[in-house]
Amino acid sequence: MLSKVLIANRGEIAIRIMRACKELGIPTVAVYSDADKTSLFVRYADEKVHIGPAPSAESYLVKEKIIEAALDTGADGIHPGYGFMAENFEFAQMCADNNIEFIGPPVDAMKLMCSKIDSKKSMIKAGVNVVAGVTEAITDHEKAKDIAHEIGYPIMLKASAGGGGIGIVKVDSADVMEEELEKVRRLAKSSFGDDAVFIEQYIHEPHHVEFQIIGDKHGNLIHVYDRECSVQRRNQKLIEETPSQAISQEIRMEMGEQAKLAANTAGYYNAGTCEFMYKDGKYYFLEMNTRLQVEHPVTEMITGVDLAREMLRVGSGLELEYKQEDIKVKGHSIECRINFEDPANNFMPCPGTISRYAEPSGPGVRVDSGIYQGYKFPPYYDSMGAKLIVWAEDRPRAIERMKRALWEFQIGGVKTNIPFHEVVMNDPVFKGGIYDTSYIPNNNIMDKVIKYMEEKKTQGGNKKIAAAMAAVEAVVAASQS
Ligand code: ADP
Ligand code: ADP
Ligand code: MG
Repeated sequence: MLSKVLIANRGEIAIRIMRACKELGIPTVAVYSDADKTSLFVRYADEKVHIGPAPSAESYLVKEKIIEAALDTGADGIHPGYGFMAENFEFAQMCADNNIEFIGPPVDAMKLMCSKIDSKKSMIKAGVNVVAGVTEAITDHEKAKDIAHEIGYPIMLKASAGGGGIGIVKVDSADVMEEELEKVRRLAKSSFGDDAVFIEQYIHEPHHVEFQIIGDKHGNLIHVYDRECSVQRRNQKLIEETPSQAISQEIRMEMGEQAKLAANTAGYYNAGTCEFMYKDGKYYFLEMNTRLQVEHPVTEMITGVDLAREMLRVGSGLELEYKQEDIKVKGHSIECRINFEDPANNFMPCPGTISRYAEPSGPGVRVDSGIYQGYKFPPYYDSMGAKLIVWAEDRPRAIERMKRALWEFQIGGVKTNIPFHEVVMNDPVFKGGIYDTSYIPNNNIMDKVIKYMEEKKTQGGNKKIAAAMAAVEAVVAASQS
C-alpha cells in the first residue's frame, strides 16, 4: 500500500480523497494556495504544504511545486482529483520520473484521450460507435463546407483539445462557416494551446449518458454502470443521476461493454469515464475522461463501490476488489451540484462569506462539501462548493428525498443555485425521467427559477429553520462573549 498520499487539488474533492485515505490508514498531505489558508481540506490533512499565491496558474497548476511538496514530505503517491492536473499527462510523466505514483491511468492512455481526434480515430478502429464526421484537423473553410455539406447541417465544430464544454460550436449553414471556424480555432489556441478543430454531425437534443469504468494493473477492468448527466447549462452538468431512465436494459449492457472496449483499447487502468450521447436507441462515444469525476458519488450510492478507495488500491498495485458480476445495482441516486452562483442572473459566480451553514442529513443523504460556517468562499476557483447526493429505493422516492434535503440545506450570506435544484425536482418533465441536454431551455426552467425565487422572497422562504438557526447562532454568540 502507498505510504503517504499528496492530494494535488482543493475543496470537496480533496476531502473526498482524504476520507478514503483515512479509511485505508494512509497519511495525507494537502497543498494549498494563499486563498486556501482557511479551507477545510487543509485542516483535514495530516500535513500541509503552502505552494504559492491564489491564482491557480501560480499554485495548483505549477507542476514543479507539487512534485517538490511530495518529495519534501515523502509522499509516494499523488492523487490529482478532477480539473487542475488530473488530465495532464506531462504531470503524470513527471511523477513517474520522480518515483511517485500518479493515482490515475497510464501516461499513454491520458495522451491518447486528451486529443478528441486521436481518441476518436482509435475508437473507430476498435469498433466503438462514434458520431459521423471527420477525424482530421480542419483549417480551410472551403473544405469545412464540403464536409458539412456531405454530413448535412447543422454540424458541430469541436476543438480536439477541448474540455469543460469550451470549444464546441454548432454551425447551421455554410454562410457562417468561415467566421465560426476561425472563432473556434482562435479559442482553441488561446484556451488549450492547440488550434486543431474537427467536424462532427450535430445530434439534435441528445442525452448525455456516461459509463464509469475502473481497472487494475493486472488486466482486470470492469464498468460500474451508467450516469445520466443531461441537465446541463453551457454544456456543463448541474444534476446527475443513475440509473439513466432513457436507456433500455439491453442498451445499457451494450454500452457498458463498449465502454470497456474503449478503455481496453487505450490500455487503460484506474478510474475513468466513457461519455456517450444517446438518441432514439442509438449511442455514440464522445470522449473518455481520464479521471475521477465530479458525479462519481451517485455510482457509489447504487453499487456500494468506493471509487476513491479503489483508485488508491489500484495505485498501490493491488488487484480490483470486484469482478464484473460482483457489481449489483440497487435503488436510485441523484446528485445536485451546489454552486455559489446566482441562478437568476445567468449563473453568475457569487463568492463571499458564508454566514450561516447547516447541512442536511438523515436516511440516504450524503453531502460532499469543502465549506463551513464562517468560511470565505474564494473567487479564484470553480464555483462549486458542495455536492448533495441522495439514495433511495426507487427514483420517485429519491426525488422526494432530494427535495427534503434541499429544504434542510441552509446556506446564508451568499447566493447558491439551490432554488434551481428545487424547481427541477418539482418539474413534471424531470419527474417523468426522460429529459435531454436541451432540458433547461426547452422547458423554460430559468423563467420558472426566477419566478420561484421572487415568490420565495415574498413568502420569507424557509422561515422556521432560518429562525431556529438564528436562535442557535445567538446562543453561541452569547456563550462566546
Ligand atoms: P465532470 O463534471 O464530468 O467531472 P467537467 O467537464 O465538469 O467534468 O470538469 C470537472 C472539473 O474540471 C470542473 O471543475 C472544471 O472546472 C474542470 N475542467 C474540466 N475541463 C477543464 C479545462 N479544459 N480547463 C479547465 N478546467 C477544466
Ligand atoms: P467536453 O470535453 O467539453 O466535455 P464533450 O465532447 O464531452 O466535450 O461534449 C460536451 C457536451 O456537448 C455533451 O454532453 C453534449 O451535450 C454536447 N455535444 C458534444 N458533441 C455534440 C454533438 N456532436 N452533437 C450534439 N451535442 C454535442
Ligand atoms: Mg465531456
